[in-house]
Amino acid sequence: MNAALKMNRCAACGSSNVKVENGMYICRACGESLDHGMSGADLERIQRAMLGGDTKTAQELRSKYKNLDITTWSSADRLQN
Ligand SMILES: [Zn+2]
Repeated sequence: MNAALKMNRCAACGSSNVKVENGMYICRACGESLDHGMSGADLERIQRAMLGGDTKTAQELRSKYKNLDITTWSSADRLQN
């Protein structure tokens, strides 16, 4: 899980399929090439949603980023309960 904290994500679509090259974030999912990745604040919210099972935040993030390739919380919740 901790490795995911350092993950870069595309600021346009939220995909973690991003390559950082010469300070540019090149997204393989949507093809965007940006000079910045997803903001640290949103990365943190994703982490919190994933680790804490915060489905409300997760849904907000999902509607904001179309390629947010993260596991479904509904199934994770079921496992925990
Ligand atoms: Zn993208």
